[in-house]
Amino acid sequence: MKVRLYEIFTSVEGEGILFGTKTLFVRLAGCPFKCFYCDTKGALPVESGTEYEIGDAKKLIGDSIERNTYKVNFTGGDPLLQSEAVAELAGFVRERKIPTYLESSCFDSARFAQVLPNIDLVKVEFKTRDSGFVEEAHYSRLLENELQCLALALGSGKTTYIKVVVSSRTGLGEFGSLVGEIFRVAGGSALAGFIIQPTHGIAEPDLKQLLGFYDAVYPYYNGVRIVPQLHKIIGAP
Ligand code: SF4
Repeated sequence: MKVRLYEIFTSVEGEGILFGTKTLFVRLAGCPFKCFYCDTKGALPVESGTEYEIGDAKKLIGDSIERNTYKVNFTGGDPLLQSEAVAELAGFVRERKIPTYLESSCFDSARFAQVLPNIDLVKVEFKTRDSGFVEEAHYSRLLENELQCLALALGSGKTTYIKVVVSSRTGLGEFGSLVGEIFRVAGGSALAGFIIQPTHGIAEPDLKQLLGFYDAVYPYYNGVRIVPQLHKIIGAP
């Protein structure tokens, strides 16, 4: 088995409920999508990064794990593009008693199910229609997969939270419908967080919009938070 890695580095979580915590990041190469606000464009081509035999990739990750490595985040690109290899690498990390974290747009629930058993912390990212992630004609299939991934993660008892990136282009009505769909699945389950993440440096939403998005989630989940990307502020990768 082979895997294409874009980079491995230790830094600070800039997003989500683990915001501000130290992490070893394993960035997988490749993402077939095209969110207009994407900040990892270098890792989008499937031929970006370097291809390794899986054993060599394990050695690289093993060599990067230090005594004070507290968790390993599999990110991208989108790690689900190489789900078989990610499952293998995450299993390797867990054998060392280090928690694993998956960040994905959850575009394929079958691939997600393959990786999930070796993951401890899950971010299920939901894309709004305005994100540019997929063509409008494919959006409902994307949403169906994201909802299935959410159900799988919650059903497996993993620490699971939701992230939605919003921009000045995100309509409140559209956002509200998405939130309704999400909580039809999440219901009263033990969600670990709901993060509304404003875009940074491009089509930034204003405060009025952000508060409207917050108010759309709060009736379902009062732990909702608006959290900007920390790494953009502190200049971390
Ligand atoms: S899914 Fe993530 S990596 Fe892919 S284009 Fe969108 S923001 Fe970038």
